[in-house]
Amino acid sequence: MKQFFFQAALIVGAAAIVGYVLWKAGAAMFIYLRDRRDSRIAAEEAQRLRREREAADRERLANGCDHRFGETLGGFPPFACRRCGLEQTAPAGPCDHVWRLDTESAPGALCEKCGKRYKPIVSEQSKL
Ligand SMILES: [Zn+2]
Ligand SMILES: [Zn+2]
Repeated sequence: MKQFFFQAALIVGAAAIVGYVLWKAGAAMFIYLRDRRDSRIAAEEAQRLRREREAADRERLANGCDHRFGETLGGFPPFACRRCGLEQTAPAGPCDHVWRLDTESAPGALCEKCGKRYKPIVSEQSKL
């Protein structure tokens, strides 16, 4: 009789351990699958937003200008079009700047819409 209780306790204990391990594994699996689904949804959302932004940028830049970016002559910002003054990507903030060379304090550029000034970064070496 004593041995029976001992065996029963052993079986219950083992079953409890197996059950616990299965429960833990199941919970880990659930969290893993949920995280994977969440990250997939986040990635899809990010991709959608990027596509929308790219489409908006294309529309923004479709003004008939044959844009030239990356020219810094006279202190012009390299991220803006030399010809029409638009930035390559929509700037953060309320003004979609239109850059013109700043004739008052060259080198530099001035936004003709909001008056913001752009100053090229002059390195210490080129000042000498
Ligand atoms: Zn342009
Ligand atoms: Zn501006």
